[in-house]
Amino acid sequence: MLGVWRKHHDQKWNGGTNNGTSQLAACTNTYAKKNFKPVWYRGKPITNGKTATNVAMDQFTQLIKDNGFKRSCPAKIKAGKRGTIRAATASTRFKVPLSMIVNPKQLDNPSLNINRLSGSFFHAWLHCAGFSDPKKTSYFIAECPMCIMRGYKFKQPEVPDSTFIKFFD
Ligand SMILES: [Zn+2]
Repeated sequence: MLGVWRKHHDQKWNGGTNNGTSQLAACTNTYAKKNFKPVWYRGKPITNGKTATNVAMDQFTQLIKDNGFKRSCPAKIKAGKRGTIRAATASTRFKVPLSMIVNPKQLDNPSLNINRLSGSFFHAWLHCAGFSDPKKTSYFIAECPMCIMRGYKFKQPEVPDSTFIKFFD
């Protein structure tokens, strides 16, 4: 998960110009059309998936810093019995713990490869960053993690979105 975050920033930083577009932002920009804004957001309107991805990744930087400097409650991972990986939608920008509830049974699910697991994890983190459901086609909180699950590739008509969305909570 931190690898996805780091890769995004490396590609956006673009050797120092900070004007790059990450593979994740480019992919998300193609598919995400709705719910670009975290609930706490009061800035300029976000009108595309690329900007929403950049906002989400900057917010993860904030959350990781708050967690590392112990400004937020320490992140806890609890075991749960339903779904895959769950987290509550944060209503504020600061001091949000990166806690989540993981269903241990799903970790042994053979149809959950590392990309799919990362996408499920990422969907939960997007809730921590203040993005809300619905987890549906064309909504940012679904399309952005689905890009991770597909390895940033285009959608294939024979693989419906439901293949991935079933791992979001
Ligand atoms: Zn969700």
